[in-house]
Amino acid sequence: MATIAINLKEGTIESTQDVIVGIDLGTTNSLVAYMKEGRPVCVKDSNGQSALVPSVVHFAENEEIIVGDAAKKKLISDPGNTIYSVKRLMGKSFRDVQNLEGFFGYRILDDDTESLVKVRVKDRFYTPIELSACILRELKTRIEQELKASVSKAVITVPAYFNDNQRQATRDAGKLAGFDVLRIVNEPTAAALAYGIGNPQQDNSGEPETIAVYDLGGGTFDISMLKIENGVFEVLATNGDTFLGGDDFDQAIVSFWLKQLNIEMKILTEEKDFGQKIRLLAESAKKALSTAEVFEDDLNGKTVRLTRRELDTLITPLVERTLDCCKNALRDAQLTPNQIDKVVMVGGSTRVPLVINTVSGFFGRPVFNNLDPDEVVALGASIQADILAGNQKDLLLLDVTPLSLGIETIGGLMDVIIPRNSKIPIRAGRQYTTSVDGQKNLKISVFQGERDLVEHNRKLGEFILQGIPPMPAGLPKIDIQFILNADGILTVRARELRSNLEQEIDIRPTYGISEEEMGLMLLESIRNAQADMQIRGLLEARNEANNILLGGEKFLSQNTQILDETEKTTINALLNTLREAASGQDKDIIHGAIDDLNTYTMPIAHRAMDITIREVMKGKKV
Ligand code: ADP
Ligand code: MG
Repeated sequence: MATIAINLKEGTIESTQDVIVGIDLGTTNSLVAYMKEGRPVCVKDSNGQSALVPSVVHFAENEEIIVGDAAKKKLISDPGNTIYSVKRLMGKSFRDVQNLEGFFGYRILDDDTESLVKVRVKDRFYTPIELSACILRELKTRIEQELKASVSKAVITVPAYFNDNQRQATRDAGKLAGFDVLRIVNEPTAAALAYGIGNPQQDNSGEPETIAVYDLGGGTFDISMLKIENGVFEVLATNGDTFLGGDDFDQAIVSFWLKQLNIEMKILTEEKDFGQKIRLLAESAKKALSTAEVFEDDLNGKTVRLTRRELDTLITPLVERTLDCCKNALRDAQLTPNQIDKVVMVGGSTRVPLVINTVSGFFGRPVFNNLDPDEVVALGASIQADILAGNQKDLLLLDVTPLSLGIETIGGLMDVIIPRNSKIPIRAGRQYTTSVDGQKNLKISVFQGERDLVEHNRKLGEFILQGIPPMPAGLPKIDIQFILNADGILTVRARELRSNLEQEIDIRPTYGISEEEMGLMLLESIRNAQADMQIRGLLEARNEANNILLGGEKFLSQNTQILDETEKTTINALLNTLREAASGQDKDIIHGAIDDLNTYTMPIAHRAMDITIREVMKGKKV
């Protein structure tokens, strides 16, 4: 829908239909920016204070969904219903994130390790896509209030290291929030744009330049090497760690304080309120120490303290890890640190003095950090949006694919069709044939990753090319084309050439969602929640039954003297009933058998306890 805005002061009519916004959908914070009178600006909150929208979603009692600062406050009072760091879950299966379970204050669904991970809130299950869409809707509201017009076109940034699933998930989240996502852009590329690097109007050098973009945010670290020449951006190499950022600095401080206070680490999972409280306090300490030398505050009546020097010691191993990634990226780009012309700092965590010093030490030059590191990516995204809107004709962007793409061949081997670090958009193909006489179908499984065996790589999807005319093995010529578009999203086509049988099949990754599916998604998730709950309930009941069976058997063997024959036979019979129930499919029957056993054994357990106590007291003076 086109929207016309009338400027009453000047009496002019402005069409805002072409506003394309730039969005930094961050792990920790998200921002929206746009071009205002030829300059990129981030949209601030209604008080004009902060442009950051904490990427936190809270599900309130009254079904209301709250996003941003208000939701962040709920991390302490209602951690189970408050979702943060959802970007860490984008495009991931439970198996990918299960080792992180302790990290989240909320529940992650773990009934099916292969499929897309879901988050459980009350009795509903949400995909990371839906949760990200909540954040994007908030940003949409913000920009629409600022412009007093409806906005639907957007460019969204992702870490350069994001794989195809993660990019798809981000695009889908945008769609679900009502955006037409014109482009998914790498965050480091956006950052370079924000600094005007390579823009012929701002950067007059004209000489080719090699840039390193160092982005240390809350949850992820990215390092990218870019080559910029005549306004053309080429990503030479990317590296990073999707589990390294300011959150880890906070975690290091939390561990340090707990040790000082003589409190065990398990309190973090056992008392979630306390866990969140100390986490937020650690973050305040870290932020304060970016300028101050000492931090001191009260935590539940106890004083906690941290000096700049102590913080530096705590985080040195983490900062060193970022340098390892830098070395890898340099190696991939076949560069040495002194061949880098400019180093751009991005992300809130690059405010930490140790980070600035270490990075400029590594590259042997002062770093670019005069723009607000929180805003850099969103500002760059809005410049990219402006380029797409046709307003900056001098700039062109070229990206690379971070991981190799290929198909499974005989023996479960990965046959790479598009190697990693290929410039995109790109189209590449290869010919295959059949291995059996008269073979009619050929299964084509698409994988992403660097390992030789496909089982170690990530499956993006599969399809079957059907109706190959019967021919002797080895005769059909099956052409498989991989088409990777500018967003890094893949389409695969297969065609049998000899018979002129043309069969084109577009596939989307397993985790991707088609246009129609998107509409059904919310409905579906409500319906599935019921089934998911049932499976979960059954698994939980079975676990409980197994524990009780073990306990019951132990009880029988340890208390033979105090049990009479009838009691023994009855308990054995009840245990058998429970064992049978536990192997069935009905959780209510399992619970029933558990109740029967408990009711019968309770008085006996009391009696056994009394006897034990009497034994212990015997001969002791009270
Ligand atoms: P993301 O890209 O992951 O969303 P951001 O770039 O917004 O993350 O960075 C968020 C991180 O920056 C958080 O860990 C936050 O604690 C940290 N941060 C913000 N301000 C400061 C500061 N002044 N000093 C140190 N760290 C900071
Ligand atoms: Mg970021």
